[in-house]
Amino acid sequence: MSVQGRIQKGHKLFLQGNVDLVFEDETMIQFHVKSNEKDYLVSINTNGFRCNECEDWTYRWKPSTNNGGSFLCSHCYAAMFKLAELQGVNSPATLEIPQAKEMS
Ligand SMILES: [Zn+2]
Repeated sequence: MSVQGRIQKGHKLFLQGNVDLVFEDETMIQFHVKSNEKDYLVSINTNGFRCNECEDWTYRWKPSTNNGGSFLCSHCYAAMFKLAELQGVNSPATLEIPQAKEMS
């Protein structure tokens, strides 16, 4: 899937209400993302974004594109859209991240 395809899929997952903030402290923020009846956990920390299912390592260090950075799957993009919403994008934002909801 192309970068644009992953962003579009992430946006759709977000718009359909499939993303929930489930944990946050000073070092980590985690989102639960549901896609095709499967559950994903996206973690954001000082190292970047990581999905518990999609293989970051495989994509990050492909010899042909050996330029580092994180691989971002559609679930990571979905989490970014949710984070933007929680931060109040397009409205006067606060610098506080809202409290995490219990994972159901
Ligand atoms: Zn993923």
